[in-house]
Amino acid sequence: MSSAGAAAGWMATDFNLTAEQEGFKKAVREFCQKEIAPRARAMDTKRELDEALIDKMGDQELLGICIPPEYGGPGADYVSAAIVAEEVARADVSCSTAVMYLVDTGWSFLLSKHGSNQLKEEVLPKVAKGKSLLGILSTEPQGGSDVAGFKTKITREGGKLVVNGQKSYISLIREISRRGGGYFTLGTSEPSLGAKGMTAFYMPLDRPGVSTNLVEDMGRMALSTGNIDMKRVEIPEHYVVGEWNKGFYVGMEGFQAARVLVSAACIGCWEGVLEMGMNYIKERETFGHPLAMNQGIQFPLVDSYAALEADKLLVYRAAWAVDEFYRKGGNKQDSRRVAMLAALAKLKAPVDAFQGCSSVMDMMGAYGYTTKCDVEMGLRGVKSYSAGAEGGQNIMRTIIGREILGDEYSPNR
Ligand SMILES: Cc1cc2nc3c(=O)[nH]c(=O)nc-3n(C[C@H](O)[C@H](O)[C@H](O)COP(=O)(O)OP(=O)(O)OC[C@H]3O[C@@H](n4cnc5c(N)ncnc54)[C@H](O)[C@@H]3O)c2cc1C
Repeated sequence: MSSAGAAAGWMATDFNLTAEQEGFKKAVREFCQKEIAPRARAMDTKRELDEALIDKMGDQELLGICIPPEYGGPGADYVSAAIVAEEVARADVSCSTAVMYLVDTGWSFLLSKHGSNQLKEEVLPKVAKGKSLLGILSTEPQGGSDVAGFKTKITREGGKLVVNGQKSYISLIREISRRGGGYFTLGTSEPSLGAKGMTAFYMPLDRPGVSTNLVEDMGRMALSTGNIDMKRVEIPEHYVVGEWNKGFYVGMEGFQAARVLVSAACIGCWEGVLEMGMNYIKERETFGHPLAMNQGIQFPLVDSYAALEADKLLVYRAAWAVDEFYRKGGNKQDSRRVAMLAALAKLKAPVDAFQGCSSVMDMMGAYGYTTKCDVEMGLRGVKSYSAGAEGGQNIMRTIIGREILGDEYSPNR
């Protein structure tokens, strides 16, 4: 990118990060470009994450980075967590490595806030070192959007908790089976109460009664997705996260934080792909001059760059809001404000990133459509985030509509 001039410099530095965050971003970028970028295509082709890479990320404290020092993590702020999501996806535009990172980081952040001390001591130190992984086990076969309608049941029986239910389209099943770990999940504890009768808990994947199978996705090929069946799975009482029957609210808090990291990953993928496109059109010549000199090529690129910069502001504003909320302690109104900012970022970033990758593919011609070029990995990977992962786009619209119009106009009251 040496000849990219001002634009490349701006991409790296134009958001007002603190000096410490800028230094962190630089170090993370160096690590990601050295360790992740050269492995990205091979992981996509082999359909597996590189286990040695996960070890390296753990050694560098780049997994579960918000886990506080008392549980073995570096206790990073959420803006830093977003920086890592962006840089990881920029290096592996398929989004596979980024999804592993962000699910692990987002949900361990939530567990740090709401888990019992005993659960945190059991789970977080291993997650912080990458020795085990954490995911989110929310979506059910009948649908993921209607969380209050989930059918998975959690009951108290003789000093233990018993879980029965099914979950679908769950990321990280193969990775957690291999490395160890489990999921933050939600079940209904008082079915007649709807959202007010749900309990959040931790579900390890290696319990008797848990069975899994995988589904095949069109993108982020290195990462597994699948279904989980839980038949009379017993877990201890201290695996409850937050209070009994208050899990819906804990879960929503987790989703809003996770959506920020999802959006940061989309930004990173888009940036990586845009840079590939910029390099290509400066080199490729038609009619005696570089493609980049044609305004028919340059203008869509500029429009995409403008959209990227706008979405980046939304993403980092939402990350900042998460930090503010936890640092200052917020009330219900503040929490709803964070939810709206996260929904704005999640509404825009995945769709615009997909559009951005698609327009880069068009400007590259046939080469962009081949597997020699990583643009197609980005296009396939980033699509997962408008197709559904961490909440569908209409659910983001519902959250935003509720905030700007008022509760009385919400269809999902
Ligand atoms: C690659 C990938 C990985 C995933 N990983 C995980 C994971 O790790 N853990 C997990 O729990 N889930 C995961 N999911 C599932 C994801 O969370 C769901 O896709 C999402 O919550 C939507 O649920 P659904 O797909 O069942 O769609 P549905 O709930 O069936 O909805 C279908 C469509 O209708 C829209 N819709 C729903 N209700 C309304 C309404 N009232 N008004 C207007 N539109 C509406 C939705 O936005 C969606 O577009 C993953 C999904 C993908 C694609």
